Amino acid sequence: MAFEDLLNDPVIQKYLHELVGPTGMPVAAAPPDGEVTDEELAEELDLELNDVRRALFILYENDLASYRRVRDEDSGWLTYLWTFEYENIPENLEEEMYRLLDALQRREEYERTHEFYLCEVDSIRFEFGEAMDFGFECPECGSPLEAMENNRLVGAMERRLEELQDELNVDDADDVDGVDAV
Ligand SMILES: [Zn+2]
Repeated sequence: MAFEDLLNDPVIQKYLHELVGPTGMPVAAAPPDGEVTDEELAEELDLELNDVRRALFILYENDLASYRRVRDEDSGWLTYLWTFEYENIPENLEEEMYRLLDALQRREEYERTHEFYLCEVDSIRFEFGEAMDFGFECPECGSPLEAMENNRLVGAMERRLEELQDELNVDDADDVDGVDAV
């Protein structure tokens, strides 16, 4: 996939934005073809050199950029020549989605298998055991704790899980459990 196609994808834009943050986004959003130095990028994008370096390093840590060092024969200075490796983005995104799926499955199971009580005054939620320990009275304000339905939350989580599983072509829980090793 060409870089331009990748960068027009809102999911990928969001992913890059979460990685490098707003200050690094001009760097992440404008990957040059071929090699480039941090100074060239800073000048071209009118950014602070430190912001460019920070963004490049984050991309490097996430396997989205690599560099090689070259010594300038006249000055003896080391120059870092950077290459953007955005062909790794789809794979990284898939790993992210598996992580999200795993976390959401745990959360959904927790919500589905626990009973909750609510202090409507403080909007604090307690698990059944906690609520019982407090005699079903809010420890903050003394209001009675009311049993709380979380069916809608669980339903929303289930729909999101189905969407994620569709996107990842995962059908049953067995496939997902194997992903812990990722
Ligand atoms: Zn309260």
